[in-house]
Amino acid sequence: MSKPIYSFDANTGWLNGAIHIPSPNFNARPNNEVSLLVIHNISLPPGQFATGMIDALFTNQLPINAHPYFKQLEGLRVSAHFLIERSGEIKQFVSCNDRAWHAGKSSFQGRENCNDFSIGVELEGTDDLAYTDEQYKSLNNLKNILQKNFPLIKQERICGHSDIAPERKTDPGIAFDWLRIQ
Ligand SMILES: [Zn+2]
Repeated sequence: MSKPIYSFDANTGWLNGAIHIPSPNFNARPNNEVSLLVIHNISLPPGQFATGMIDALFTNQLPINAHPYFKQLEGLRVSAHFLIERSGEIKQFVSCNDRAWHAGKSSFQGRENCNDFSIGVELEGTDDLAYTDEQYKSLNNLKNILQKNFPLIKQERICGHSDIAPERKTDPGIAFDWLRIQ
């Protein structure tokens, strides 16, 4: 993989240099505030990588009959702004200026509906398998670009899905090394 040079377009909210796969699963933020970065993991089917099924899920094209696990995802309308694959490749599905549907019922420091004011980043992975060096490199790269463009995303406002929905969610899991996010 040649090294992409990323640049963020503040007007459109899209990251140049990332692969753009527009998802229909978004709507307007209730205000323009972007002040939280939420880190997730996902793999489809669970524990399998580079299947193309995450792209399919976020674009409402998941072949429900292709795997037994997919049945429970039927009709689900979800998205994240970004996906970082095991290779470190960054894909973007929703403009950062829009509200993606990644957090669900959630609250951060007493404030509910984190989708309203957050950017969601999915790491391709599972809770207990080490993420790749390439993923940490891309995540730090992306994080720094986003913090430059959305200065309200302070270091202490970078959290996991499990932090904002502790009763429902465990991602990014024990495998995620928070000390590598700098
Ligand atoms: Zn999640």
